[in-house]
Amino acid sequence: MIDLRSDTVTKPSDEMRDAARNADVGDDVYRDDPTVNQLEAAAAAAVGMEAALFVPSGTMGNQIAVRVHTERGNELLLDSESHIYRWELAGAAQLAQVQTRIIDSGDRCVPTPAQIHDNYVAEDLHRPGTGLLTLENTHNYRGGTAVPKDAIDAAATAAHELDVPVHLDGARLFNAAVALETPAPDLLEHVDTVMFCLSKGLGAPIGSILAGPQSFIDQARRTRKLLGGGMRQAGIIAAPGLLALENIDRLGDDHKRATRLAAGLDEIAGLAVPTPDTNIVVVDSSDADLSASEFVAECAGVDVLGGAFNEYITRFCTNWDVTDADIDVAIDRIDSVLH
Ligand SMILES: *Cc1c(COP(=O)(O)O)cnc(C)c1O
Repeated sequence: MIDLRSDTVTKPSDEMRDAARNADVGDDVYRDDPTVNQLEAAAAAAVGMEAALFVPSGTMGNQIAVRVHTERGNELLLDSESHIYRWELAGAAQLAQVQTRIIDSGDRCVPTPAQIHDNYVAEDLHRPGTGLLTLENTHNYRGGTAVPKDAIDAAATAAHELDVPVHLDGARLFNAAVALETPAPDLLEHVDTVMFCLSKGLGAPIGSILAGPQSFIDQARRTRKLLGGGMRQAGIIAAPGLLALENIDRLGDDHKRATRLAAGLDEIAGLAVPTPDTNIVVVDSSDADLSASEFVAECAGVDVLGGAFNEYITRFCTNWDVTDADIDVAIDRIDSVLH
């Protein structure tokens, strides 16, 4: 089975399992877990932020950020294809009680400064006030796009001119950093807070990081408790997270494999596959008159797993457990599906 559904499907390495077993632990709600404390310090340094908080998932990290940055009834400004808008169960409405105002950023993946100014709402007797701008890098639904620093900087600067804070959903931030050859802290120069996942391409079994200024993280820690995310001997899962931080450079291998997969699939009549920036390959099967759900089912029939993104678009995501040889086999098998 070649599992390309996501970069979350990887199994922890023996090294990670050993690290979990041997981790020095304590009750993290009392801040007594040395391994969690070490992970939070290392993670803050990796993104160039003052402080960090270990959270069970990327979704929780984003939702804590939205809630801490905003007042109830504010507006949240974000791209119409962003994860926070599309894939988090309307958490912004349910948990932060904010109203979303979506902007179609197109291939740019982040709103332009003009779009931010046009969609900004000043608070008054009738209007809710814009409380937060969120950005995403890499941009998952727009094809794993690595958004360049200048576009992030321009959006964040425009928001700050309006006194609006900026949170970046960087579930795959390090994929962007590697693809753009720009250190993560540089990509975040004008961003206030960031979430990134340890459990995606970096290979940890569990966990994400929310990072930002100390005062923000202090509030975030309370909100994590509110959401039921206060964990006890969490060093058991933080120890693999520390090893995951050492896997950043390895992400380039996933990108090369994704590029190779895309090139191979693009040669198959009926499939259109753009060259990916990172580890996400999006396949358009409309020319073959094959819906994404049919295509995914046919691929599963030959032991290659992907996921339907929408009616005609399927996502394949390279990851730690997929080798160069697997990519060649996947291309051949998918070719057989189309013939
Ligand atoms: C995966 C993902 C998340 C959520 O992370 P989970 O750990 O699955 O909750 C958030 N944003 C983006 C862009 C993602 O790809």
